[in-house]
Amino acid sequence: MKMIKKNTGTTIDLPIEILKASDLISSSEIELNTIENAVVAMKKTMNAMELIRLAEGLKNLSEDLIVHLAEVCGGCQDCSYCQGLEEYDEIFLPDYLLEEAGIPKDAKLCACTLEDSGEILVMQADYSYDIADVPQFVIDIFEISGICIKELEERLIMEDIVYGDE
Ligand SMILES: [Zn+2]
Repeated sequence: MKMIKKNTGTTIDLPIEILKASDLISSSEIELNTIENAVVAMKKTMNAMELIRLAEGLKNLSEDLIVHLAEVCGGCQDCSYCQGLEEYDEIFLPDYLLEEAGIPKDAKLCACTLEDSGEILVMQADYSYDIADVPQFVIDIFEISGICIKELEERLIMEDIVYGDE
């Protein structure tokens, strides 16, 4: 079951339908576990089967989220980016060069070049995330399923809403 609740900035009550559907209603205490961008409300005490069902449910939810993202990005139509993906790597420069250029040490870098110029221009990227920030398991699933990594990267760079905007 899925339900949307308005965030009032104070407390969020769990509706009775949600408590019933998750069987949290039978639990005297509820354990809240925060993960980035979510909170998992689970029974404070569980038997082995309950724990397994919870783990299975979280795994299924995780898979659903990745499938959703894959559907948003769509299949790759043999784009050159995805075919050359194994050549892709993050740019690293020594700290003293970054310092001289006034670029923070943890900044994301991007590079461009003019063909055969013998020069590469490296600069601080004006975006926060790109494909280098994506966990390998997501890349692997996308590659195996033929999903376009370039489409994913465009959404990362633009920080597009990819979930919950339909
Ligand atoms: Zn592609």
